[in-house]
Amino acid sequence: MTTYAPRTGKVYLIGAGPGDPELLTLKAVRALGRCDVLLVDDLADTAVLEHARSDARIVRVGKRGGCRSTPQAFIERLMLRYARAGLTVGRVKGGDPFVFGRGGEEMQTLRRAGIECEVVSGLSAGIAVPATLGVPVTHRDMACGVTFVTGHAREDGQPGREPDWSALARCGTTLVIYMGMRKLASIAEALHAGGLAADTPACAIQNGTRDSQRAVISTLRDLPQVVADAKLGSPAIVVIGEVVNLAEVAEQAEALSMRA
Ligand code: SAH
Repeated sequence: MTTYAPRTGKVYLIGAGPGDPELLTLKAVRALGRCDVLLVDDLADTAVLEHARSDARIVRVGKRGGCRSTPQAFIERLMLRYARAGLTVGRVKGGDPFVFGRGGEEMQTLRRAGIECEVVSGLSAGIAVPATLGVPVTHRDMACGVTFVTGHAREDGQPGREPDWSALARCGTTLVIYMGMRKLASIAEALHAGGLAADTPACAIQNGTRDSQRAVISTLRDLPQVVADAKLGSPAIVVIGEVVNLAEVAEQAEALSMRA
């Protein structure tokens, strides 16, 4: 007699890009169309769900800092439960799943559980959002590289603590800060204390690539005040470095540009 193990499903970790649904990859579109169930982060634009099957179950699992949230452990349990039921699961995340997206943790959980997992890379906000202003994060005349860093340190005591801002101040790369808005003033202060010139060009871009995008352009010293005056909030990308000199803000009704 032959016994068959029950078929387990597969999980796609899908990067939905920074917002503009046209920045979705073809691979993401195909993966979205294959899934029985989609677990969707709130940074992923609703428009990407147009590519879901009409009978797909859509589960919103947003957990933005400070908002009502679905705990990570619960999301992972859901993912495992659906996959073990033999379903094809799509975990849809803003930007790229492996850039500050906890995609790495989810992949490890799936691997441990012996569930097949495929990563569908997405365009990360740290590259695509500055590009909307014409900011090339690694223009070779102005930067020898780019550093992606989080302004929101882990609060659970695990590795991944506060970045070493004074080392970053001296590293000579463009700094692209994710989740940096709440602590912007102290980050700017720490970078300046570490030796980064107060007049280093800096910008912040909220809701990048969406119709609601707003941006301010300033300097390291003035950016926190300019951001506060403009009432800019999350989600936003902060870029610090000479490349910001190339920033141009298009004339659009909601766009806001300030050069301080
Ligand atoms: N995985 C995502 C990042 C998730 S962390 C990626 O690769 O882009 C969440 C942070 O990403 C936000 O706090 C913000 O700093 C940034 N972010 C994501 N989408 C954004 C957008 N459309 N505009 C500006 N910042 C964005």
